[in-house]
Amino acid sequence: MDYHRQPRYVDRVESYAAQCSTDGYERAKDETVSVTDGLALLLVAPPGAGKGTQAPLLASHYDIAHISSGELLRLNVAEGTRIGEVATEYLARGDLVPDDLVIDMLTVPVLEAYRNGGFVLDGFPRTLRQAEEAQRVARQVGGIQLQAVIHLVVPRDELRRRLVDRAEREGRSDDTETTVAHRLEVFDAQTEPLLGYYAERGLVVDIDGEQPVENVYSDIVSAADRLRASRATDGSDT
Ligand code: ADP
Repeated sequence: MDYHRQPRYVDRVESYAAQCSTDGYERAKDETVSVTDGLALLLVAPPGAGKGTQAPLLASHYDIAHISSGELLRLNVAEGTRIGEVATEYLARGDLVPDDLVIDMLTVPVLEAYRNGGFVLDGFPRTLRQAEEAQRVARQVGGIQLQAVIHLVVPRDELRRRLVDRAEREGRSDDTETTVAHRLEVFDAQTEPLLGYYAERGLVVDIDGEQPVENVYSDIVSAADRLRASRATDGSDT
């Protein structure tokens, strides 16, 4: 049950980076060499806003990996891994699982995906501390440049309606009425502040998530392409 006995993610980053970069991790680490020029998109939005619908569409459009922290956690629960054992009770309550657990679970897959062309991250980071840790690790491997943080904007009533529908359709254990209400509160308290953090870096794009799926999708692609082009010309770093 003590996942801390596993190698710390920083050690795993070191060993991952040592294997992966032909330039050598030492050179990458001094922040002057990028491991690769992948595409990195984040989806930050409350439960029910459509992250899980849009992320695979974007991944296939840009031919990059879709990494969903929620799906990976549910997979760990289903497979009875150590991470799954710890996560179960948090998921059932609608609370966020501990930052270190998610960071441990995601660091290596995210770095691997970036090296292979990029990723759309759905559900991570979800707290300021996760964002700060992610940035620290990104710097350590030579700088992952985020192209855009997509914020899907959907009114609260619509979110509740969608989550109730999803509960009937999919029977996800964290879609009960009380848990849904709690997850929305958790979003406001712990995840919403992330938008300010990324807005300061000029990365946030608000997308109207109440439109039909195809329109949400095309709005995201236009915004991401625009931001990507402007960041490529001004050469700024996150
Ligand atoms: P939703 O966005 O609908 O809440 P997700 O599948 O993204 O669904 O997440 C489901 C649950 O997984 C969350 O309520 C939380 O308990 C856990 N979770 C997912 N991502 C994270 C994360 N980055 N940090 C902590 N907990 C997470």
